[in-house]
Amino acid sequence: RPTDMVQFLRRIVDNFEVEAVDHDIALTLGAADGIDATIELDPDRMTQVFVNLLGNALRYTPAGGTVHVEISRESQALVVALSDTGPGIEADHLPFVFDRFYRGEEDRSRDTGGTGLGLAIAKEFVVAHNGTIQVTSAKGVGTTFVVRLPLLDS
Ligand code: ATP
Ligand code: MG
Repeated sequence: RPTDMVQFLRRIVDNFEVEAVDHDIALTLGAADGIDATIELDPDRMTQVFVNLLGNALRYTPAGGTVHVEISRESQALVVALSDTGPGIEADHLPFVFDRFYRGEEDRSRDTGGTGLGLAIAKEFVVAHNGTIQVTSAKGVGTTFVVRLPLLDS
């Protein structure tokens, strides 16, 4: 159904506010004034996508860091970029982060750890929406995930 992604993401980001404050992370959302961000989406699945991505950003970013979500538009796509100041991901691991059960070396042994399915599920749902998901990262600097979703035909 047609959904305004600014409102949609504001609600999801708001739900992470307590966790962000708890972890001493500055969590922010930005979008250009008056941006038309209405797209067709499955709300449950798309919520899962951004809960997984934001959950990762908040889990892996150390205290004092920042997580920023920026919404913008390209000619064919609505673009959501999630940037964090976390540990980053080694370049040679980057191609595998969307694989099922892939977990980073240090994260495999964490007792608070997950299963390594979060990004695989996120990618599956984005692709089911005819979208794309990409990641760029620099070790020691941070990570950015970019989700592109098709705009409504006008
Ligand atoms: P799950 O999501 O199933 O609870 P997980 O978080 O380990 O477990 P994914 O979300 O699929 O699994 O992420 C895979 C791996 O990619 C993580 O174990 C971690 O090493 C790395 N990773 C994911 N997001 C980030 C991030 N924002 N910063 C640094 N590393 C990340
Ligand atoms: Mg995860």
